[in-house]
Amino acid sequence: MESSKPTLVLDIDNTLVCGRATKRPGLDEFLARVSKLYEIVVFTSGNRERADRIIDHILKVNVARRLYNDSCVRGTKPLEILGKDLRRVVAIDDNPLAFAGNEENGLAVVPFSEWSMEEEEREKNLIKLLPLLEGISSLEDLRPPLKQWKEGIESELKLPSSC
Ligand SMILES: [Mg+2]
Repeated sequence: MESSKPTLVLDIDNTLVCGRATKRPGLDEFLARVSKLYEIVVFTSGNRERADRIIDHILKVNVARRLYNDSCVRGTKPLEILGKDLRRVVAIDDNPLAFAGNEENGLAVVPFSEWSMEEEEREKNLIKLLPLLEGISSLEDLRPPLKQWKEGIESELKLPSSC
């Protein structure tokens, strides 16, 4: 059922594209796969004209709702304005500050830029989120597995103790 899909809130700049509209590697596959399971909302801190151009011409996906800089509050993106059950909302952004107040819904990605293209090609930052997003989409509350995933990433980054 369409109406039972959870919501995936996506930032644009340095999350999906960079510069004039260079696509993050794996973007098309990522969008094609998540849009089967999630209702897609784009929430950008950029202006409407640029965002609409990118959504309409670059992102090959059906976007249910578009939110722009005029919906941001002091650099944050308040998810309450979606009017959705926040247990079923995931937000992906390269700027963790965007999630302030909604940390448990947020999934930060490494910022994508032209100079990080090679590294991005190796790391496939969007694609590697697919197993998580596909695995949790039917849960009643997506936040606990998101938390576990983030803690897992943190512990991966920790160096083994040298005692
Ligand atoms: Mg961004």
